[in-house]
Amino acid sequence: MLTIAVVGRPNVGKSLLFNRLVRRDVALVHDRPGVTRDTLATQCRWRGRAVTLVDTGGIGSPEGGALDAMVRREAEFAMAAADVLLWVVDAREGLHPLDASLARALRRASKPIVIAANKADETAGLYLDHEFCRLGFGEAIRVSAAHGHGLRELTEALLGAAPETVGPSAPTNSARPLRWAIVGRPNVGKSSLINRLLGSDRALVSDIPGTTRDAIEIPMTETRGPGGASMLVVDTAGMRKRTRLKDTLEARMTSRSVHAIHRADLCVLIVDATEGVLEQDRKIAGIIQESQKPLVIAVNKWDLPEAGRWQPPRHAQAVRDLPFKRRFEDAVRRGLFFMGHAPLVFVSAHTGSGIPALLSSVGQTAKTLATPIPTPALNQVVQDALAKQPPPTRQGRAFRIYYATAHQEPGSWNPPRIIAFCNDRRLLVDSWLAFLENKVRAAFRLEGIPILWKWRGREPDRPDR
Ligand code: GDP
Ligand code: GDP
Repeated sequence: MLTIAVVGRPNVGKSLLFNRLVRRDVALVHDRPGVTRDTLATQCRWRGRAVTLVDTGGIGSPEGGALDAMVRREAEFAMAAADVLLWVVDAREGLHPLDASLARALRRASKPIVIAANKADETAGLYLDHEFCRLGFGEAIRVSAAHGHGLRELTEALLGAAPETVGPSAPTNSARPLRWAIVGRPNVGKSSLINRLLGSDRALVSDIPGTTRDAIEIPMTETRGPGGASMLVVDTAGMRKRTRLKDTLEARMTSRSVHAIHRADLCVLIVDATEGVLEQDRKIAGIIQESQKPLVIAVNKWDLPEAGRWQPPRHAQAVRDLPFKRRFEDAVRRGLFFMGHAPLVFVSAHTGSGIPALLSSVGQTAKTLATPIPTPALNQVVQDALAKQPPPTRQGRAFRIYYATAHQEPGSWNPPRIIAFCNDRRLLVDSWLAFLENKVRAAFRLEGIPILWKWRGREPDRPDR
């Protein structure tokens, strides 16, 4: 989806032009009154190409702030949100000091810019649009929002300026293999699981080529996982021997895990079925959460309860009406409540059961990490969340989100970063953010994947929360 943001100083005719450009299109994809007013984004179709037109007007307005700061904020918003910028200037007034200021801000973005010199109402007239050439963004296109002149040329120029890579969302090809770490406290079965993975038919490899100081990396190609992503398993168990004997067991465990977690793109936390979630498991999960790494939970040794050789711990018996496996899962999720949304699989390193499901969960998470979140769909989810459960007001003021856009670094396995433009981030309360996050997570299959929010508001700058 091509996203075009309309920028420009006040009164050049942005709103009128925006409406013209949208109305030109007979088949508005969705025009929901009350929703679009707040989102500032409207979808339309130009020459068969789906376009999201974003109006930055109002985003920047600081309450009683300087015009200059406001314009720059709009530019910042547009640069973050859009593939192409439509910069509207006034053909009759020529270059204004605010335009020059805006130009400085826009120059920092490596985004294509199309300049529309608006209010060129008559075919002949004294227009100062040539002044904008000096800024180095190319020639301005003369348009009249009032009379509808020049709109075809403008849309052609905008489509022509669009980068070719902007198209239907497709998984990006990550440059390097996904690195996943198998972590857990001692004796949960990490080594056994690695051995099982090494032994399993197609899963692997050559003999431990990269023995690093921190971990043993085992290159493996998992063909059964979606996308056939290439992966590296980091085996923390292999590091045991190198740690000093006088360290306490916990210290050794923790430092190994921390290293492995920091180096990993994805963590598989092994929980022992015979013991359930213990404090140590929670600690490791906490490190995974703080490191903002995606997580898959694997409950190992499931062969024991399956063979009826072991009775579930008391905490797993809490909800009696559920089948045992569900109850157990429930208990594990409650034990790791802060990461309770992560995919959870039951495995046995001894019998090999559940291993394909584990690999498939890892593969699915990798696939999700490599798939961009489409901006229109994201905004739909955000607006639905705002409508369904309006955020609590503070001193009579309501929190609003105008627009959100997700950014995934191409070629990396980093979790998505969502830049959200709001009226005042100080109005955002944690409980509502949690609600929103759940909605976003459900919509884009981000189970087990952290979401990094970056809030852009109009209030004076503060560090991101
Ligand atoms: P914005 O602040 O940039 O969104 O500007 P508006 O769209 O609100 O327009 C500001 C003023 O310029 C309004 O009075 C419009 O009617 C006027 N205007 C917008 N486009 C044109 C145009 O093409 N020709 C003329 N003559 N006036 C225009
Ligand atoms: P690590 O310390 O996490 O690497 O754990 P190990 O792989 O050394 O396993 C610890 C103990 O658990 C060993 O006695 C294993 O035989 C046992 N174990 C590991 N996986 C399983 C399993 O899937 N089922 C059963 N029944 N025992 C297991």
